[in-house]
Amino acid sequence: MSNQSGMFSSAVNLDLGASAQTAPAAAAAASDDDAVHDVVIVGSGPAGYTAAIYTARANLNPVVLAGSVTAGGELMNTTEVENYPGFIDGIMGPDLMGNMQQQAERFGADIRYEDVVSVELEGEIKTVTVEDGTVLRARAVIISTGSEYRKLGLPDEDRLSGHGVSWCATCDGFFFKGQNIAVIGGGDSAIEEATFLTKFADKVTLIHRRDEFRASEIMRQRALDDPKIEILWNTKVTGINGENKVESLDLEDTVTGEASELAVTGLFVAIGSDPRVGLVKDQLELTADSTIAVDGRTSTTSLPGVFAAGDVVDPTYRQAITAAASGCVAAVDVEHYLAALDS
Ligand code: NAP
Repeated sequence: MSNQSGMFSSAVNLDLGASAQTAPAAAAAASDDDAVHDVVIVGSGPAGYTAAIYTARANLNPVVLAGSVTAGGELMNTTEVENYPGFIDGIMGPDLMGNMQQQAERFGADIRYEDVVSVELEGEIKTVTVEDGTVLRARAVIISTGSEYRKLGLPDEDRLSGHGVSWCATCDGFFFKGQNIAVIGGGDSAIEEATFLTKFADKVTLIHRRDEFRASEIMRQRALDDPKIEILWNTKVTGINGENKVESLDLEDTVTGEASELAVTGLFVAIGSDPRVGLVKDQLELTADSTIAVDGRTSTTSLPGVFAAGDVVDPTYRQAITAAASGCVAAVDVEHYLAALDS
């Protein structure tokens, strides 16, 4: 159902004005994987692309391993981004990421739509292996792998994924025209998804396990004011029913324990995300929140030459703008690290 790469093509054109004169050759650096790269960036959300823009402008010729289907990160699954500074009327998430990607390429970043399968981060030269077996060597690595959608952990969740269960309203909402569907969660994402889905569905039931939203005030009000959204407070989903596609949900009242069933043909899970640390969890120190541990406000991890940025280091703020800023910090840290090695 989901087609993220299709959305990516909606990127708008850039107009970067006068700073063009400071740019090196626009063409991406030719592939030279026998060489030792100055920096390899793993991940391509706001943190990865911002790190690419800064390191490319510092003539460090970054290679960005952007991912084969997840390039652009979570904002590729978002609709309107209203709070990214500089866009008075907001900007669509995929357009924002398309802009960042083109801006990085304009300064010479070598962006590759490949998945990393393993990294070796000890020692002066790090190695990053991609799916086709190519091994890239680098003096510095920035890990900006973001976060991944949390699952409910219900037995039929995976079986019915793509058959009514989804994590992406912008990708899949169209398939639920005129239907009754449900969204689970009480944060900004759940309300954003529920509001977006009212464009297609007849009715959206927003199911939250408590009696109070975690979401920001503006989003809370949006959900309460929307006539197509019905909110089920103090409710958890205990089962997803359906032979070949979702037909109903088993519910439980978290206060009284009372069980009930809700007939819906779609279920959107929007219960947050967890840092994507699978590649590095055995090599880098993690925090109690399972994010990569960094030193204070820097991007410095527990290993020299390895830097981390974006949602993968951030259990608290998790905004596009904080991820972008964090990518900038990582790029500057890499610059200083390499300059110190060379001096
Ligand atoms: P979140 O803020 O962590 O909220 C997750 C929600 O899911 C919470 O309401 C939580 O319930 C619920 N939940 C978690 N695990 C659950 C489970 N197993 N079963 C049922 N419910 C469960 O995550 P988010 O909404 O994805 O937002 C993440 C960050 O992105 C936030 O900082 C948010 O502000 C930001 N964001 C901003 C915008 C925007 O500005 N437009 C849009 C999207 C996201 P409890 O409340 O009971 O813990």
